[in-house]
Amino acid sequence: MNIHEYQAKELLKNYGIPVPNGRVIYDAKEAEKTSWTISTDVAVVKAQIHAGGRGKAGGVKIAKSIDEVKNYSKELLGKKLVTHQTGKKGKEVKAVLIEEGCNIDKEYYLGFVLDRDTSSITLIASEEGGTEIEEVALRNPDRIYKEKIDCLTGLTEFQARRICFDINLPIEIINEAVRLMMNLYRIFVEKDCVLVEINPLVLTEEKKLIALDAKMNFDENGLFRNEDILSYRDLSEEDEKEVEASKHGLSYISLDGNIGCVVNGAGLAMATMDLIKLHGGEPANFLDVGGGASEENVTNAFKILLLDDKVKGIFVNIFGGIMKCDVIAKGIVNAAKELKLNIPLVIRLEGTNADLGMEIIKNSNLNIFAVENMGEGAKKILELI
Ligand code: ADP
Ligand code: MG
Repeated sequence: MNIHEYQAKELLKNYGIPVPNGRVIYDAKEAEKTSWTISTDVAVVKAQIHAGGRGKAGGVKIAKSIDEVKNYSKELLGKKLVTHQTGKKGKEVKAVLIEEGCNIDKEYYLGFVLDRDTSSITLIASEEGGTEIEEVALRNPDRIYKEKIDCLTGLTEFQARRICFDINLPIEIINEAVRLMMNLYRIFVEKDCVLVEINPLVLTEEKKLIALDAKMNFDENGLFRNEDILSYRDLSEEDEKEVEASKHGLSYISLDGNIGCVVNGAGLAMATMDLIKLHGGEPANFLDVGGGASEENVTNAFKILLLDDKVKGIFVNIFGGIMKCDVIAKGIVNAAKELKLNIPLVIRLEGTNADLGMEIIKNSNLNIFAVENMGEGAKKILELI
């Protein structure tokens, strides 16, 4: 789960990491009231969306007067901001953060990530932070330093100090930087993060370290024990179909293709997607209706698939173990009727009560293609679309 920059900064502040004074607003009318809290000559007006790359896309504005703060807030609020991380559709800006501008001497990158290759939390830092960090990672990967953290000892001060030397932090700032890294690591562990990133971490002309941007991603499996983090959730930033699916207890992940898949069991869902790709198609989603899906589950699954106008055909691949194929078949027939399905539907039913299920499908007089095995099913749906 992602959160907004202003929320991440609130967390940083709670853990003693310096951030600029600022306030979030949802209506440009609030801009004037907020501006008095700004004690610097310039204020920065920042679009709050769950995506980075805002600076380059015009989502971060430097304002030199209250009028400019108002105008930039008006300009950004309601706008669809397109950055290299949002996709072509962009994301609507519903809030802006107005904060104190700071005199930047140098921008660093600092982050912790759960590295699945080494199965450990890794500290990542660079002295070439800022909006070009992706370029640096691509062209000069040797300018990016890493420390693999042992899960038993946690981040040690000597590792944090080594990183400070790697990225050439001025010597007089190192103790402060080490403290900052230890605190950031504490957030990562205590709040079940997958990623925390400060980019840029700046050294100001006054020789202070300040987090100017913050990005955090949390492990959803840990949210039950982090209610404060859960309260930061902004469902309007998440995929509408994924949110709807989670309400019905369905594991659904939206993808880019055009073949909707309804499958029971994660392994079978993966195999189904593989087969579709093997025959030259692209799945529109991963969807696991669960091992003991009910008629209602199946209807909901269809509804969610049909929210996606990219879906041009549906392939249902069910292996009835605990689940009975006749129950699933009833669900499919009901869903097809209720939703007036007008795209091709291919079904493979195998396992408990498969023959009963097939009979229900045949007697429904709906335009549904039943196949004997999953390979045939993948081919058939491609042929039909
Ligand atoms: P993004 O990463 O989405 O582009 P950032 O918050 O990192 O957005 O802002 C982009 C750039 O804008 C930063 O690298 C920094 O140079 C500048 N910037 C952001 N916030 C401030 C601020 N409070 N004061 C001065 N400059 C800022
Ligand atoms: Mg940034």
